[in-house]
Amino acid sequence: MATDINKAQFIKDFKDQLYEDFMVKNSDATAEEQFVALAKVIKNYVRPDWFRQKNGIVADKKKTAYYFSIEFLPGKMLQTNLLNLGIYRMVEAALAENGVALNDLVAAERDMALGNGGLGRLAACFMDSLATIGAPGFGNGIRYKYGLFKQKIVNGYQVELPDAWLSSEGNVWETKKPHSAVDVKIYGNVYLEPHDGGVLKPVYENVKTLHAVPYDMPQIGFQNGVVNNLRLWDVEIPEKYELDYPTLADRRRVEDITSVLYPDDSSREGQSLRLIQEYFMVSAGLQTIVKSYAKMGLPMTAIQEKVAVHINDTHPAMAVPELMRILMDDYGVKWSDAWTSTIAVMSYTNHTVLSEALEKWDAALFKEIVPRIHQIVGEIDRQFVAKWASKVDACVVDNTRIIRNGQIHMANLAIIGGHSVNGVAKLHTELLIEDVLKDFYTIFPEKFNNKTNGIVPRRWSQIANPKLSNLIDDLIGKGWRRDIHELKKLENLTSDTAVLAQLDLVKTANKQRLADYAKKMLGIELPVNAIFDVQVKRLHAYKRQLLNVMHIIKLYQDLKANSELELTPRVFIFGAKAAPGYHFAKSVIKIINELAALVNNDAEIGDKLKVVFLENYNVSLAELIIPAADVSEQISTAGKEASGTSNMKFMMNGALTLATLDGANIEIKDAVGEDNIIIFGMDKNAVYDHYQKHDYNARAIYDNNPEIKRVVDAFVDGTIPNIHYEGHEIWDALVSYNDEYFLLEDFDDYVKKQAELATLYANDKQTWQQKALINIANSERFSSDDTIELYAKEIWEIN
Ligand SMILES: *Cc1c(COP(=O)(O)O)cnc(C)c1O
Repeated sequence: MATDINKAQFIKDFKDQLYEDFMVKNSDATAEEQFVALAKVIKNYVRPDWFRQKNGIVADKKKTAYYFSIEFLPGKMLQTNLLNLGIYRMVEAALAENGVALNDLVAAERDMALGNGGLGRLAACFMDSLATIGAPGFGNGIRYKYGLFKQKIVNGYQVELPDAWLSSEGNVWETKKPHSAVDVKIYGNVYLEPHDGGVLKPVYENVKTLHAVPYDMPQIGFQNGVVNNLRLWDVEIPEKYELDYPTLADRRRVEDITSVLYPDDSSREGQSLRLIQEYFMVSAGLQTIVKSYAKMGLPMTAIQEKVAVHINDTHPAMAVPELMRILMDDYGVKWSDAWTSTIAVMSYTNHTVLSEALEKWDAALFKEIVPRIHQIVGEIDRQFVAKWASKVDACVVDNTRIIRNGQIHMANLAIIGGHSVNGVAKLHTELLIEDVLKDFYTIFPEKFNNKTNGIVPRRWSQIANPKLSNLIDDLIGKGWRRDIHELKKLENLTSDTAVLAQLDLVKTANKQRLADYAKKMLGIELPVNAIFDVQVKRLHAYKRQLLNVMHIIKLYQDLKANSELELTPRVFIFGAKAAPGYHFAKSVIKIINELAALVNNDAEIGDKLKVVFLENYNVSLAELIIPAADVSEQISTAGKEASGTSNMKFMMNGALTLATLDGANIEIKDAVGEDNIIIFGMDKNAVYDHYQKHDYNARAIYDNNPEIKRVVDAFVDGTIPNIHYEGHEIWDALVSYNDEYFLLEDFDDYVKKQAELATLYANDKQTWQQKALINIANSERFSSDDTIELYAKEIWEIN
């Protein structure tokens, strides 16, 4: 085991690796070279455990869960891997003795950003947790050459640059596995030819064959000797079919398949390339899974006893017809048996209630790209309709069938073709049952269940916040590092004023760490005695960054009207990427930056108000920002945020949550009690009431509320310099187009709760830290180790 390695052995391994890879002495090596060498040494240490786990699947006939996700957002892996191996302190000390600062090597690693936001981050947390609970659970995804775009702010605008995360060394954590490559067929025609005994076999014509090559990455459990596998697929041109791709342009079209992650996680990207990506990942992954099951020598019709496949959001939903295809066409299983097995193997997580994000494909395009899959989906749809037409209302069948009006509904495919569909927070699952998927609920009530999201506690406490972690060690011992539930013991200390003072010191130190970063990046001084009020997440109208902006404008206007006004100093911190084609979201970014320029450079305002937008929000930046937050802004329109996970990260780091009753905010409130969270605004019922009655009138609020009018008009009356059409776009969205996300209705309560919070911070720091401590203590409820334990038991039935 790696934990047996001592310093002398480690340093020898490290120096040998530097020599082997770069022919360089440690004293002459760059931080990048040292990082690469260290990563390779770690990989060598875990190789035996990794190999054993992968081979154990077939050898021990272990039931395994395969988590299919079009996104994985792990961020950096160096610290996590060292921590989970149990050699963090040893390596840090050994390197220091040899003149190397571990932090410099951490800085040299690039973020692995093969995801947009919460969805991909959840998949990454789950990989860590699966290994940590010791469950056989492997990931399947795409090895995009370019991750999520790199965001630069130029003139206040978002500029997108390619994120070439693969250095010339490739990804040091991965191992290419050419011998596990498989072929994936797309395009062409397929017809069925009768064989002996009436069996129909598909005949393919004019297909394009792609070569899918896996790259495996170790997923190391927390100090338990378990190493799972994350398999990412890359595309190559198969040697055998080279003649099908004669020109450079042909080759480039193939390479494009694994080139870029679609930088939009909220609306459909209507391009055939995305459909090819989805099928490529699903087909390559499932072919290898079925192959390895076949090696166990068990009957194909019992595959569900050894294999569970999870469909994370709809993108991998073609797993349903693809497993049918493999079982029938490649292994001769008959339809009814294949169907029974497929339903038992498959399960699906829904991540959104936004209708524009429910994935649909044009049936003609689908037929062109994956003709055999199209046939199978057609037959699944036909049988579904035939079975249910006599049992439920016609409109229920119509709302749940897969193919309707020339479109293929991927969520419907995932629900019909699996045995489980889960939402990601209690409210979200309720909304699926009552509203979004209610017709499915009448047919398959037994399939529905809730699995509230979680976060991997080690990254979001021990790694992101070493100062807080050390304080917790002093207060309750180190047991919490292994068993996060021990954080609960902190609740006994909430009246200990010395503890609260220490907590305050830790927070201030983390704020200073972030202030140093802001100084370096933006040249701006952030006063650490101010409230650090943070909203970091993807930019989307429903997340309502604009409501936060409106509050800042109000404070600014108040201060300009009365420079004597008593105001608790505040620093507003934003981080957010907008999908490149999402005009409104980009306008909000521009406005935040121009508002920041206005506020920060106004001598009258001074240190009372600062606004910063930190560019290129990603996992590493999250690890820096979240520990420094006093206030966590979770202010989505009630009913719109499926769960949220940054809300949990903030809580674990002692921020107070300012929130609507949405997603997991509700469960955070239940965990900490309503005195230790600040709730404002309409709840889901109030929002739905407006939908039902069609009685929301933003114009009336604007006309009758002078303060709101003053704030909204600031977007167009020159108050904020250097914004042009952006201000009008926002004004129109709020007033002319009736404020789809109810900012104007929620504004007054938001402002009121913000003021109360500021007063508490200014007058009673001790009570504030008490609430912070209660939040930290109860964050144990949101460990993804527990979430994944429930998936393993209740959905996948693995040990
Ligand atoms: C946790 C996380 C998210 C998800 O944030 P929400 O506020 O839950 O939407 C997005 N991006 C990154 C980099 C994260 O770490």
